[in-house]
Amino acid sequence: MPPRKCAGCNKINESSKMIRIMKVHNTREILINPDSRHFGRSSYLCYNKDCAQYAIKKKRIQKTLKTEIPAHIIEKIQTLTDN
Ligand SMILES: [Zn+2]
Repeated sequence: MPPRKCAGCNKINESSKMIRIMKVHNTREILINPDSRHFGRSSYLCYNKDCAQYAIKKKRIQKTLKTEIPAHIIEKIQTLTDN
């Protein structure tokens, strides 16, 4: 898997070790860790609460995906990084 940059801390990590937030190309639906059937513009985060909070606060994911992020997706990101 290619390395990707975290939207929070900007560190490079393997994409398989990160949360992927995708805007699906044709439906514009926002998915978390989509399976390989889907493709579209993606943003990545470490499994780290600080990265998630920072990226959400600074709207970094929104800027990368060029869309608003639904509240249930933000809640899911927070759940995945709440450790
Ligand atoms: Zn990070």
